[in-house]
Amino acid sequence: MASHIVGYPRMGPKRELKFALESFWDGKSSAEDLQKVAADLRSSIWKQMAGAGIKYIPSNTFSFYDQLLDATATLGAVPPRYGWTGGEIGFDTYFSMARGNATVPAMEMTKWFDTNYHFIVPELGPDVNFTYASHKAVDEYKEAKALGVDTIPVLVGPVTYLLLSKPAKGVEKSFSLLSLLPKVLAVYKEVIADLKAAGASWIQFDEPTLVLDLESHKLQAFTDAYAELAPALSDLNVLVETYFADIPAEAYKTLTSLNGVTAYGFDLVRGTHTLDLIKGGFPSGKYLFAGVVDGRNIWANDLAASLTTLQGLEGIVGKDKLVVSTSSSLLHTAVDLVNETKLDDEIKSWLAFAAQKIVEVNALAKALSGNKDVAFFSANAAAQASRKSSPRVTNEAVQKAAAALKGSDHRRATNVSARLDAQQKKLNLPILPTTTIGSFPQTVELRRVRREFKANKISEEEYVKSIKEEIRKVVELQEELDIDVLVHGEPERNDMVEYFGEQLSGFAFTVNGWVQSYGSRCVKPPIIYGDVSRPKPMTVFWSSLAQSFTKRPMKGMLTGPVTILNWSFVRNDQPRSETTYQIALAIKDEVEDLEKAGITVIQIDEAALREGLPLRKSEQAHYLDWAVHAFRITNVGVQDTTQIHTHMCYSNFNDIIHSIIDMDADVITIENSRSDEKLLSVFREGVKYGAGIGPGVYDIHSPRIPPTEEIADRINKMLAVLEKNILWVNPDCGLKTRKYTEVKPALTNMVAAAKLIRNEL
Ligand code: GLN
Ligand code: ZN
Repeated sequence: MASHIVGYPRMGPKRELKFALESFWDGKSSAEDLQKVAADLRSSIWKQMAGAGIKYIPSNTFSFYDQLLDATATLGAVPPRYGWTGGEIGFDTYFSMARGNATVPAMEMTKWFDTNYHFIVPELGPDVNFTYASHKAVDEYKEAKALGVDTIPVLVGPVTYLLLSKPAKGVEKSFSLLSLLPKVLAVYKEVIADLKAAGASWIQFDEPTLVLDLESHKLQAFTDAYAELAPALSDLNVLVETYFADIPAEAYKTLTSLNGVTAYGFDLVRGTHTLDLIKGGFPSGKYLFAGVVDGRNIWANDLAASLTTLQGLEGIVGKDKLVVSTSSSLLHTAVDLVNETKLDDEIKSWLAFAAQKIVEVNALAKALSGNKDVAFFSANAAAQASRKSSPRVTNEAVQKAAAALKGSDHRRATNVSARLDAQQKKLNLPILPTTTIGSFPQTVELRRVRREFKANKISEEEYVKSIKEEIRKVVELQEELDIDVLVHGEPERNDMVEYFGEQLSGFAFTVNGWVQSYGSRCVKPPIIYGDVSRPKPMTVFWSSLAQSFTKRPMKGMLTGPVTILNWSFVRNDQPRSETTYQIALAIKDEVEDLEKAGITVIQIDEAALREGLPLRKSEQAHYLDWAVHAFRITNVGVQDTTQIHTHMCYSNFNDIIHSIIDMDADVITIENSRSDEKLLSVFREGVKYGAGIGPGVYDIHSPRIPPTEEIADRINKMLAVLEKNILWVNPDCGLKTRKYTEVKPALTNMVAAAKLIRNEL
């Protein structure tokens, strides 16, 4: 019985690659230094998998930046502005595409399915001259082989590559990306020939787009592509790997009929219906790569349950054709539990990071072939049992309260326009009120203070004094700038989710549980392991303090339940909705405490609501339903005169605008400036919007200072589609990554633009 790993994290157990990359980019180390760190990481990963007994070990899942960018390099599809003139693509061209250079900005980056990983979007037009320009796949294969490890080289599948591309600027609207398929396949054939010549006997194509709801002509592209590749693939075993969701029935049919393909990989953790499709019919003589070990989470596998699933599959596909695998690449989980020094043993026994998942996969494969490691299985069973029964996981009062919410509706009694009237009487704001999203620049000094307090190097008294001073300065600055609704600047927060997680029960934190977000950037999601409750108020102290410094309204600043959920590793022993409802109740208590403390405007950020949207259309309505419900629960208990704001990042809202309206916030601020036409078009098309709205008037991701006229121009464009009495003026998002030298002039111009237009109205 064989075992397989879809892909492995690149960063290293202690983010070695991150530091090597950043040092190279800063000119502090050489290309050889970077290559050496990378080669050492690859070698240790391969040896680790070989040592654990994995049969199909992937190669070419390492990347210096991103696997889609690697595919772009392989195909020589470098946009002309990077000035590449041919030959093997080196670091210069590669990193220019990824990060931009002195004269040319980077290529666009976007989210990889519903993960927090971002890929570099290929830009293609009718005259791209595809050539085999990076031999990374075959080089890695040979490198592993020289180490004594025969690997299965992994390539982004040709159809997925095209489906995730975008047309280059200026290309005619009628241009179809899929029309490039023959040219792309010509290069794939060269790569395949190279891999064959180097001795590869298996090859893996990642085609995760197969789990999306694809139109029939896109499915047809898979049929065509693999038929075209079939002769080149003869004598090879070919695995087409899918992941992240159930595969639709049509796509399953297409996939299992592909020419030249001998093995199919499925995500059986998220794809519970896929199992039914397999039971309904699986082509004889083909391999099934069964993804039963979760690549997206950090929980130890329930080995007994997986074994049962696998034994069922064995009866369908045959003993020698079943391969135990991960549900997706392990890129989306943390690297190695061994480095977690701060988690207690009980919680640790419930977890498995990438390194531990490899061992699980292999243990399952061995058990299937009759060599069950009894000690390993019983330790696993004991850990599963302890997780089920631990009093740290279950809090009956919370369970009951959350269960009572389901199926019922929660809405503020008064409608939004009447509420806005009541609020305006109290707040007395000018037309086009100005505000910011929450955070102000996080200076080196500020980070130092927080770090030293955490490490017990400074006393609580000193810490409070420094933060207090910072808040006072931020308030003073906003008054000077003449902003209408103020914020305290969030100086006490390292991260908008971690800050709340640390104060709620049911959360645990790792020291090295990093997951790549993009390039060298990693995030360290909290782990939600138990029922969530709020032992005591979390923000009231700082918010009241900030309010005491000013007569203007000071926004209370909270992170919403859906965002806390989407940016954490979430427990898998109850539905995500249930966990969200629990968080919603904790935030509700906080909202009401803020109100009691005299805070009249409260912002509840749902930055990540959009990104939790399920991939399959059939699941989206259900998600939006409970997510929006959970948000409403947080503020259903406040008075009409308390103004609830929410904030969302990203500008891709048009398809969920009705859900946004259904959140029933009094005011929403939305990232917008990088695509204003897109957001505003919804309103132009007649969507009725009665609540307050602040589409961001400038991009905070860039150091550029927006001129007053440019901001005024944007506001005027908004006024053309939105009523003047609901429009707010604010930046796209929080200011924490910017410098004061950028923030001061930018906000000065923003306020000036608002005043300019107020005078004209
Ligand atoms: N209130 C948060 C801040 O300003 C919101 C951040 C976000 O939307 N990502 O930093
Ligand atoms: Zn934001």
